[in-house]
Amino acid sequence: MKIFLKGTPILAAVMLLCSCSTTPVTGRKQMNLTSETEVAKMSIASFEQMKADMPISTDPEYNDMLQRVGFRISQQVFSAMPLAEWEFVVFDQQDVNAFAMPGGKVGVFEGLFKIVKTEDELASVVAHEIAHVTARHTHERISQAMVLNGGGTLVNVATAVTGAGLLGVGSGSYINMSSVITGLYGMKAGQSAAKWDQNKEAEADHIGIIYMARAGYDPHAAITVMERMVELDSGRGGGTYNSTHPSSVDRLNALHGYLFDAMEEYEKSKDFYFQEF
Ligand SMILES: [Zn+2]
Repeated sequence: MKIFLKGTPILAAVMLLCSCSTTPVTGRKQMNLTSETEVAKMSIASFEQMKADMPISTDPEYNDMLQRVGFRISQQVFSAMPLAEWEFVVFDQQDVNAFAMPGGKVGVFEGLFKIVKTEDELASVVAHEIAHVTARHTHERISQAMVLNGGGTLVNVATAVTGAGLLGVGSGSYINMSSVITGLYGMKAGQSAAKWDQNKEAEADHIGIIYMARAGYDPHAAITVMERMVELDSGRGGGTYNSTHPSSVDRLNALHGYLFDAMEEYEKSKDFYFQEF
């Protein structure tokens, strides 16, 4: 099957052909041409590589906190990530950084604890990162790369659309997907900040604050963390963290707008998490 269309018509045709996904909480329709299983498999492989490349923190307090938070947040996204093999790792790195990958792999750098002081605050960051995954931002990026990468990829797109699977067409698409994941997450210390655009950050903030609230964490903590990010950004004069996570001030304002709904979820969660309060 060959498609000779170029540019936007291709995107439109693909949007028509594919079964598009809808993001949780925000309900945005999105293109998804990827194989869930293969994206998870590739992400897990990338995470294994990171664990081999970067020292892992032995700090018991950070590790215990992350395991508790991770367990509770992961329970809230079971239906969105049924294939996840959850793993929560604190890396011995001093950058302010955290990430989550399809397949249920979550990494937090020790440096994050410069701006995260409580378990609720850590929950806000982990929930935000997992929201990037359940909102399929990685899948979306891969889908876009497949469409925009030109002729050869179109065959892959067509095959993926017909359900033959992303890897069914040969190693070309495997390299594509792998390089997108590597580009997003990096493979070495200091390169692991996933680079999302501002809309995706906003979407992950919105979904994340709802997730943390459902998991029984006080959504006000998301605001406290963002306030520290604003301070950090201004202190650095718009340094590297700012460039990958733009406009902390805008995000802070937006978070205040989500607080009412999040507090409702938080109140409901107290029945479930009653014994822990
Ligand atoms: Zn983010």
